[in-house]
Amino acid sequence: MIDVEEFDPGWQLRTATRRAKSDVANKLVSMFLHSLSRKLCESWKLKIEDEAYLAEVKEVFSARCPYCRTVLTKANVIVEHPDGMNRLRAGLHVPGNVLLACKPCNSEKRRDDSLRVLSLAETGWESFLSHDGTRCDQPCKTCAYWKRMWPEPDHRKVELRQNAQRITRFRAMYLDFERVLPYLKEHLPYYLAVLYKDCQTFADSRIESLMRDFLDKAPIINRNG
Ligand SMILES: [Zn+2]
Ligand SMILES: [Zn+2]
Repeated sequence: MIDVEEFDPGWQLRTATRRAKSDVANKLVSMFLHSLSRKLCESWKLKIEDEAYLAEVKEVFSARCPYCRTVLTKANVIVEHPDGMNRLRAGLHVPGNVLLACKPCNSEKRRDDSLRVLSLAETGWESFLSHDGTRCDQPCKTCAYWKRMWPEPDHRKVELRQNAQRITRFRAMYLDFERVLPYLKEHLPYYLAVLYKDCQTFADSRIESLMRDFLDKAPIINRNG
């Protein structure tokens, strides 16, 4: 969804090339995380594809969004990773980190997931549920989102806390996941940062050299007459 307030056509055009390159690098990070997820799950009892896993997700969250408790329907549901699958949050596609959420929460949560440094909590999903309207100095879009959801401040705090606790309890059910999580959190971001940077360096040098080659051999693109 395009944020109308933030949509600046000039900026979009000026940064299109840079964004294309970071899209590619982000895709590689996502591929790395998916491959690692498959490797880890090989020895685990439960897999994402198992019916039993989906049944557990539905039971714990009563087929509601884990963040806002909206009833999930075919039209609003989306696969959600509490630890986002990006280079900053280093989340995996493994039991314990795959949920079903509503599309608005999934998209609002991206703001926290894309922060280099989290100030409200240790993880992106806990940070997302920490915007209770009292902790952010600047006018904050996530605080505004939760204010619209639950206008009354005390009620809002209770809802956000309960939902965070439910997700914590859910994740604790997956012992294979819990066991490796501290190690992943400590070491994975380094590898993802290297992969991200290498991909951009590769893109720069390869595009430059292939383009030079193309232009050298292209009589139709006559540069100096
Ligand atoms: Zn939601
Ligand atoms: Zn906030």
